[in-house]
Amino acid sequence: MPEFCDVALPVPLDTVFTYRIAGGMQPVVGGRVLVSFRQQRLSGILVSLHDHEPEVQTKNVIETLDAEPVLDPSLMRLGQWIADYYLAPLGEVLRTMLPLGAEFKRSISYRIAEAGHLTLHQAGMSGSSNRSRKTPEDQLAEFRVLDYLTERDAVREESLRAAARVSKSVLTGMVRKKWITREDVSSARDAARTVKVAILGAVEGKLNANQRTLVDTLAGGKVPVETLHGLEVPRTTLGTLVRRGIVQIVEEPAEFTMSALRARPSPFDFEFNPAQQEALRRIQESVNARKFFGMLLHGVTGSGKTAVYLAAMRSVLEAGRSAILLVPEIGLTPAVAADLHQIFGDQVAILHSALSDQERAEQWHRIKRGDARMVVGTRSAVFAPVSDLALVIVDEEQDSSYKQEETPRYHARDVAVMRAKMANAVVVLGSATPSLESYFNAKKNKYTLLELPDRVERRPLPEVEIVDRRQEFQETGQEQVISRRLAQEIKDRLDRKEQVMVLLNRRGYSPLVLCRTCGKTLECKNCAIALTHHKGSHRMECHYCGYVAAVPRACVHCGSEYVYFLGTGSEKLEELLHGIFPQARIGRLDRDTVRGREDFERALNALNEGELDLLVGTQMIAKGHDIHGVTLVGVVGADAALGFPDFRAAERTFQLLTQVAGRAGRGQTPGKVILQTYFQEHYAVQYAATHDFAGFYDKELRFRSWMHYPPYSALANVLVRSDKLDEALEWSGILGKWFEKTRHEGTRVLGPAAAPIVRLKRDYRYHFVLKSASREKLNALLRSLLVYAVQQKIPRTQVIVDVDAVWLM
Ligand SMILES: [Zn+2]
Ligand SMILES: [Zn+2]
Repeated sequence: MPEFCDVALPVPLDTVFTYRIAGGMQPVVGGRVLVSFRQQRLSGILVSLHDHEPEVQTKNVIETLDAEPVLDPSLMRLGQWIADYYLAPLGEVLRTMLPLGAEFKRSISYRIAEAGHLTLHQAGMSGSSNRSRKTPEDQLAEFRVLDYLTERDAVREESLRAAARVSKSVLTGMVRKKWITREDVSSARDAARTVKVAILGAVEGKLNANQRTLVDTLAGGKVPVETLHGLEVPRTTLGTLVRRGIVQIVEEPAEFTMSALRARPSPFDFEFNPAQQEALRRIQESVNARKFFGMLLHGVTGSGKTAVYLAAMRSVLEAGRSAILLVPEIGLTPAVAADLHQIFGDQVAILHSALSDQERAEQWHRIKRGDARMVVGTRSAVFAPVSDLALVIVDEEQDSSYKQEETPRYHARDVAVMRAKMANAVVVLGSATPSLESYFNAKKNKYTLLELPDRVERRPLPEVEIVDRRQEFQETGQEQVISRRLAQEIKDRLDRKEQVMVLLNRRGYSPLVLCRTCGKTLECKNCAIALTHHKGSHRMECHYCGYVAAVPRACVHCGSEYVYFLGTGSEKLEELLHGIFPQARIGRLDRDTVRGREDFERALNALNEGELDLLVGTQMIAKGHDIHGVTLVGVVGADAALGFPDFRAAERTFQLLTQVAGRAGRGQTPGKVILQTYFQEHYAVQYAATHDFAGFYDKELRFRSWMHYPPYSALANVLVRSDKLDEALEWSGILGKWFEKTRHEGTRVLGPAAAPIVRLKRDYRYHFVLKSASREKLNALLRSLLVYAVQQKIPRTQVIVDVDAVWLM
């Protein structure tokens, strides 16, 4: 065994750390080790073993946590690629890839020190009754700690605080006075939960009806006892079966038990149209070739992409190999999960954000063991430890939720492509509105383009009618949230008992509070963002940091009573529609009404079951669900983004309009869309209205080419932030001068400039935008920038490098 190892630790430093391996230890590359780092214990990933003695003194590895690698060589390679490409610390990347936090228990213990004994002794000399009468509360607390510790060895923080009734700050103060010592004793723990499981044995003798029900339920093998208790059978029945030896109950590691109710892989038959068949055939053919292929599945809304994904995954499963399907968060409802279990049985692992750390770890182990070879999940599922990966599918590949907006700032779609490449697997990116980047790659034949140009069963795409809001204003003399045309169309649908969706991509009641006397608005105290009025909850809210304030009666700046609540959010839209259509049953779908996946599904079910006539909502209603009764979609406000200083604004607007229009007419009755806009002539609006994807992409690509924006160049956003304005200015100035002095041929640097949102979550923000035709040059420049920033003592966490930034705000 080599003497040393390099360990990647989850700290914001771009380096690995060397530790000595104590005799007898057998750590492995790709496995976790416990080490001490600056007074704390951390679990890191061992990246290499060697015999080069470092110049500085090294500490020993405390404990080896894995006998086998938890990250196999291919995932280690992927992690290294992410660290290099996104300029992220390797240890933080690997932590993100490995959801095993539940297996590590943070723990601190304390011991009494020499000075502590002495203090206690001196106090004892002066009499204990005396000390309790004269000392203030904090001092008393300190003595309680010393008393407790003097009779014991090391004591865990929780026990000590409970026994001595002290706060953490008291303990910290005592450590500083050297009365006690603090030690990090964090360690690995066995996180495995167990559950009681019933197993069916030989059935002998007669069974009554209740016993028969249980035995039938158990016919599939093991079923958790809890599930049996959920059946309409007296609990004593199970006990009887156990006594008769028909059923045995054992403790087993808790697994995902959703599929325990005998979900069998069902032979699902979709009637595929020729385009679907062709797409499926080409995916299967590529998978069988065991070579890397990138494919873009561009299918109009309602063209049956999901059916193609599932059929392709099923054939991968039948071949005994593995597949990963990535979906945007909101798409993973319990109903979708149930469908997946129906199709793939116990072979599917579903990873969504509502899982606890422990459940996440359990799923990870199921996948690692090979028990689940079909993985469906959100962003981080791209790291699922499957073996023999054959296919990775990214549904709604343009969705911005695939970009992680904290370190490591990776894009799961791009990581999926790289992972497939490293595994000689096939990656399929699917969308009705592909990102410019992916479409460009398909145009340049880097990806194979698969098209589903028609809706299933030859249903037509909806007709789109544009209502010019400026003209509406001129004709009616006032700002109409709901135009006369839209109101009429809604009425027609309601009369015919058809359903309507109305999109307004902004939540809350009023997005702006303005003082008519001094002209100032009410802003968040942490951000340079106007607070939104939420009428139902009687408060003002910041949608960026969550800050909450009371609803103002007077201007906070000048005291004037003339404060006006301006603009309309989804909450107000719902109220307005109630006013116009008092008989209609109206539901609302936005982040205020939807707390989790269940709420989302409940609202959609209500619409599907015909319990609602009208559904109002933000872009949440635009996501790929399939409600057949909706024949009209109204777009009240979706073009506000066109006014943002962001080069992706047109693309986003086009995508949102196309997606929401796609909700109309998915059943037998053709659909219609009323699109109200202030930007009637804008090409994003025009092309969305005519369902002209190719037209939009050609035009937008020309614009990107002129402006040297992606996909024609690599782009990075470098953000410098500090909660002190002086610091933010000074640091961005230092880096700005460095850019001026440094040769950076082939890379354009814009800035420093105040970020569009100059203050966010208490931080002042300045940024640089870097564009380059050469990703290598861009990357090298960023790398030396980070080195320089460290030399200048700018904290690494305050300089954010966002490669392929999705938002420049
Ligand atoms: Zn005022
Ligand atoms: Zn805020």
